[in-house]
Amino acid sequence: MAFGSRGGTGMVAGSAPQSSSGAQLSGTEQDATSVYFLDVGQGDSELIRLKTGENILIDAGTPETAQELADYLADLGVSKIDCLVATHPHADHIGGMEQIVSRFEIGQIYMPRIPDSQIPTTAAYEKLLTAIDKKGLKITAPKAGTVIVHNGDEKLEILAPNSAKYDDLNSYSIVAMLTSGEKKFLFTGDAESDSEKEMVAKGYDLRCDVLKCGHHGSSTSTSAAFLKAANPKTAVISCGLNNDYGHPHKEVISRLQKAGVTIYRTDQQKTVLAQCDGKSIRFTTGLNSVGK
Ligand SMILES: [Zn+2]
Repeated sequence: MAFGSRGGTGMVAGSAPQSSSGAQLSGTEQDATSVYFLDVGQGDSELIRLKTGENILIDAGTPETAQELADYLADLGVSKIDCLVATHPHADHIGGMEQIVSRFEIGQIYMPRIPDSQIPTTAAYEKLLTAIDKKGLKITAPKAGTVIVHNGDEKLEILAPNSAKYDDLNSYSIVAMLTSGEKKFLFTGDAESDSEKEMVAKGYDLRCDVLKCGHHGSSTSTSAAFLKAANPKTAVISCGLNNDYGHPHKEVISRLQKAGVTIYRTDQQKTVLAQCDGKSIRFTTGLNSVGK
């Protein structure tokens, strides 16, 4: 079944926010890859459900919605996170991860290696490490160019970090490309323009259909050169309503608009679900926020 065959643009917008999010998924085999861009306020969290029923979680929002995120995933029928990706150890990305590690069965955990001098001393980070340790799990440092998940026509490939040292913690962010058949989703964490520049220089195929914009739509990410290389049709920006940082920055919005990219924002469209059958992608907006 191709979503495009249903007619129209293949977009479904504005479904009732009170509708049970993702009730169509049972946690078993699906005919589509589902990507939830979860509304966690000013933070990042994306859940990928593969056709095999395997789950990949990229980031886990802030400490404020930790419990609610775990409940949300449980409501979707998630019992195991087969691949957990902590893009970088800032509290708006790993804030809810201790809960996730404690409550769910966990497969692989990926987190970038950070020099001692830049490792944050936040409670969220310390608690996460303790939870990982308690369960006897180990952290794998990502290596750019490696495929970490591969099932049939679905795969997740690491594209960054490409250096051992950056000025800003954000740029250590794990960047990963999800492929589902002919379609691609690029997840950039908070990677900034220095990391983007490296990915372009390395000659990675950055072309994608959906770009999760770096650093909540900050002007320090989604640089013109990177956007040109990625050439997405759709961009998703994960940010909180009226956040203190002014995210997303107007330069980024204007760059995306000029490139003719459709923009979804979690502060405006709440949780956004993209379902991909390998040939087309169907978007549903207005799904429940995490913790509301
Ligand atoms: Zn962030």
